[in-house]
Amino acid sequence: MAKVGVLALQGDYEKHARALERAGAHVAEVRTAEELDGVDGLVIPGGESTTMLKLLDRESLMEPLREFGAKKPIFGTCAGAILLAKEVENPSQPSLELVDIAVQRNAYGRQLDSRVAHVDADGFGPMEAVFIRAPIIRKTGPGVKVLARYNGDPVLVEQGRHLVATFHPELSSDDRVHAYFLQKVTG
Ligand code: GLN
Repeated sequence: MAKVGVLALQGDYEKHARALERAGAHVAEVRTAEELDGVDGLVIPGGESTTMLKLLDRESLMEPLREFGAKKPIFGTCAGAILLAKEVENPSQPSLELVDIAVQRNAYGRQLDSRVAHVDADGFGPMEAVFIRAPIIRKTGPGVKVLARYNGDPVLVEQGRHLVATFHPELSSDDRVHAYFLQKVTG
């Protein structure tokens, strides 16, 4: 069975672990480079990307994560999407630069801090999308495939082995997106 890691430094990683288990994965929490070595794919959860960056720096995990992502699948949700993006604005901040997208943090503004929307995802059909202080994907490179949009903006995209959601699939009682990521991991 594929072993999927969940980056467990900060954010809502436990809900991802449960969703992955329901989708059939064997799950391990990842906090060190050594633990990263032991998994076949990784989920970077939502939370606060600035805090995660600090913790990743403290654990010297940025370079190991870049190397991991050069070979193995990563699924980033919300703050995780921000960490995977090639470019980050509002404000600009470092990232893993593994997916060719430009994101704007907290882009829906205060009045849309959090909302449950419905999107029609390519290959999935209708699904619920929970947004919490979400970024907006402002640009996608040629290698990026948009799987779902909300208000015209991409909210679920993939580039090769990597998957990105600006919403929180782990907060809906629907494990299809996690199951899809699991397929990428098992190849
Ligand atoms: N607003 C957060 C950030 O900029 C992301 C929010 C989330 O992950 N739900 O990092």
